[in-house]
Amino acid sequence: MKALLIEDTLTSATLVSHQLRKMGIEPILARDGERGIELFKAERPDLILLDIIMPGMDGFEVARRIRQLEQAGEWTPIIFLTARTSDADLEKGISVGGDDYLIKPVSETVLAAKVKAMQRIAQMRYSLLVLTRKLDDANQELTRLSSLDGLTGISNRRQFDEILLREWRRSGRQAKPLSILLCDVDHFKQFNDGYGHQVGDECLKAVARTLQSALRRPADLVSRYGGEEFAAILPDTDLPGALRVAEVMRSAVEGLRITHRFTPNGVVTVSIGVASMIPPRGEADSAGLLKRADDALYGAKQSGRNRISATPIESVA
Ligand code: GH3
Ligand code: MG
Ligand code: MG
Ligand code: MG
Repeated sequence: MKALLIEDTLTSATLVSHQLRKMGIEPILARDGERGIELFKAERPDLILLDIIMPGMDGFEVARRIRQLEQAGEWTPIIFLTARTSDADLEKGISVGGDDYLIKPVSETVLAAKVKAMQRIAQMRYSLLVLTRKLDDANQELTRLSSLDGLTGISNRRQFDEILLREWRRSGRQAKPLSILLCDVDHFKQFNDGYGHQVGDECLKAVARTLQSALRRPADLVSRYGGEEFAAILPDTDLPGALRVAEVMRSAVEGLRITHRFTPNGVVTVSIGVASMIPPRGEADSAGLLKRADDALYGAKQSGRNRISATPIESVA
């Protein structure tokens, strides 16, 4: 335990130091308020023993300043040393941030008891701090998990919506194209019905991994949009760029060669709808962009599946 003793009178300082040493505590000594505050900043003690009457800054003022210097959640116990015993002094000492007081000349027994009590409180505060930190970590982990899809481990729909809105606004501000891809597994109902739900789940995991690894830029995001649908956000990417990424995804899934004997292709494939636009002023959300990607996906399904498609871009104001 680190104790800071702020006391101008040498006899009292010597006596209290001696008593503290007997308890196994080596005090840091300051002979006036200013020096006491400096040492408080430099040493961050666990306990402060603070004389009230000192030349220059008195103990009340020192206590007030120390409380201002402490960060949120920090609290160093302050015990006033005083020759005065009036109720008004005690009241003032507590109201400026003191925790207790000792009457001079300080009794060794009383000092030991009070130090012990403060140690106990400090220990409890420390435990609380450790617990709070653990709770913070757990909360952070919870936040992280709540943005992930339980089956595939990639981002979920919630995260997708959040990021899409953010990127929509950002792209609008910077007048940069934003692209999205909607990707749907072909004939997945037959796959599921034919091989069973568990095999279906494994297939979705493999597809998710494959789509994920098709993305190259840190700002790109792929998420499980629902069931056997995935959606990707490609910021600062124009239509030709987005089509390239979509084609990489499509061919990579086909390249997995996951047998699907209930489909003409013989393997699991995906269809991808692509849409890209510079968010127009006054369009608050990306519903229009999503709609286009969805229409494009529908087009890809209609024209035979295992392909990518984009709706033509209308002129944008
Ligand atoms: P299309 O080529 O037109 O997309 O046909 P499809 O059969 O893939 O489309 P549909 O929407 O009719 O079927 C989707 C199926 O995906 C329904 C369900 O069997 C399956 N599915 C959706 N979510 C999950 C999931 O979490 N796990 C598994 N195993 N299957 C899922
Ligand atoms: Mg004094
Ligand atoms: Mg579907
Ligand atoms: Mg499907």
